[in-house]
Amino acid sequence: MVRVAIVGRPNVGKSTLFNRLAGRRAALVDASPGATRDWREGPARLGPARFRLIDTAGLEDSLDDSLAARALACTDAALDTVDLTLFALDGRAGLTPVDRHFARWLRRRGGPVVVLVNKAESAAEQTAIDAFELGLGEPVAVSAQHGLGMAELYDAMMAACPGLDAADEAEASSADALKLAIAGRPNVGKSTLMNRMLGEARVLAGPEAGITRDAIAARWRWRGRDVEPVDTAGLRRGSRVPAGGIERRAADAARSAIAACHVAALAIDATGPMDRQDFAIARQILDEGRAIVVAANKWDLVSPAARDAVRAQLARQLRSALAQARGVAVAPVSALTGYGLDRLMREAFASREVWSRRLPTADLNRWLAAALAHRPPPLDGGRRVRVRYITQVSARPPTFALFANRPGGLAESWRRYLINGLRESFDLPGTPIRLLLRAGRNPYAPAKRAPMREPPSARPRRA
Ligand code: GDP
Repeated sequence: MVRVAIVGRPNVGKSTLFNRLAGRRAALVDASPGATRDWREGPARLGPARFRLIDTAGLEDSLDDSLAARALACTDAALDTVDLTLFALDGRAGLTPVDRHFARWLRRRGGPVVVLVNKAESAAEQTAIDAFELGLGEPVAVSAQHGLGMAELYDAMMAACPGLDAADEAEASSADALKLAIAGRPNVGKSTLMNRMLGEARVLAGPEAGITRDAIAARWRWRGRDVEPVDTAGLRRGSRVPAGGIERRAADAARSAIAACHVAALAIDATGPMDRQDFAIARQILDEGRAIVVAANKWDLVSPAARDAVRAQLARQLRSALAQARGVAVAPVSALTGYGLDRLMREAFASREVWSRRLPTADLNRWLAAALAHRPPPLDGGRRVRVRYITQVSARPPTFALFANRPGGLAESWRRYLINGLRESFDLPGTPIRLLLRAGRNPYAPAKRAPMREPPSARPRRA
């Protein structure tokens, strides 16, 4: 979930803004060692955005005592954990030297900042004009007390931190039922595996009277966690429908089952190597943006002496044929005996966690700087493409936007280098990773735009 901090001098209205966005009930966080006072943190909302809001220890009014130094160190540490900082100013009091000092400090620190001119219900224009010169982008006039300027605040926060909107989606990751599709070509043991799971589910769920197979099929529990198997029964053989027809319908059924799942368990027949059809289904899963684990089925038929060799062969095949999702987990299973089911489910849940992960913008950009230094993008027509910024725009699957002046000039091989780097540096095995190329500057850099709009309350009404 995106984390947002409010900083500012005392009395600029931080708490009022905090209460407006997070409500009064947000818990007081105990002062951590070295903190000068308590700060608060809680879930907050603004329009459609959901985020965690942190009311920092604050920036002291004086610059030169040890209390101020400690407060600053504490705020500094808090800001390391956030994706966006709201820098609050008092529109009525005007800019003070301390504000200017902290603005310089925030600028040097880097990272996205939205400047708020609070108390804008009264004359705050001069402060807004001054605030524009802080070099932290276009200030937003708000009144935390009266709830003015909230739509503008939302726009500014979204522009500075595009991940905000998707926060909802990512948050649900570990709590909701795991939608698990069992995919694979005919005869690898999908139905047997599904039945085995449902049988196990019945055992694990205990002898609850009245639970029918169908009810369990809709949702069962594995070690206290809900799992919803997504049926790919459309892939059954044995029908008398002409081959072309059934294949098309089977493919359609499999596609929609895969599109509806979080993780697809790709069942393969471990008594032979993976074939083209297995890989075609694997690619389909990845193209749909789903996470993948391999269920190496019929393991009971693989002789103990051959198991290491079979494992190594599968790993080799996956590495070469599925380079776009390195690190796919392989769980040897026997749908017939139930062997390995536990491992498969553990891998499936772990895989969903990776697929749902969100990476802090600051970490991503530190990584990008290193990746650029290690291997700059190849020249495009003799000109260097300027790569400026990276941010994660959504999860499930992890999706990143890379900002560059001429994204069209970035070679596909370099884009793959970045994706592989993301996967390795941030440990994202077995999930597709999307990297979108966007034209433009760092969206968080100080904007060079026209002076701010007036607060809505002061805007002349158009008849
Ligand atoms: P599907 O077409 O993928 O749904 O495959 P089925 O579940 O119908 O299984 C195909 C055949 O493989 C059946 O004869 C199963 O009994 C057999 N089978 C499935 N899983 C296993 C397993 O783990 N071990 C062994 N020995 N046979 C299996």
